[in-house]
Amino acid sequence: MSIVLEWSEFKPYATRVGPGAERPPRPDECMFCAFARVWFNGWRRVLVTVLVDGQPLRAPDWVHLHLVRCARRECHRSWTLRPPWAYLWLARTRSAENR
Ligand SMILES: [Zn+2]
Repeated sequence: MSIVLEWSEFKPYATRVGPGAERPPRPDECMFCAFARVWFNGWRRVLVTVLVDGQPLRAPDWVHLHLVRCARRECHRSWTLRPPWAYLWLARTRSAENR
């Protein structure tokens, strides 16, 4: 997977997805207990740093990541829904926020 492709996927996501706009696809099951029903549970607004051609670059726009929660009472855990291209960035998200 190329970094450039991931960058090109960032822009449409950042402009289209967020509160009152588009939602990312809802996962089919809980990532902790595999229960087949999860709820959307609010948004998390983050700044991320992206690698473009090997160089770290602060993305200019905030990105909204959806939180989801397991509907099973015994589980009820929640987690942040990350687009596939965001995995690479998460480690850098925190340092970008602390700057
Ligand atoms: Zn669960």
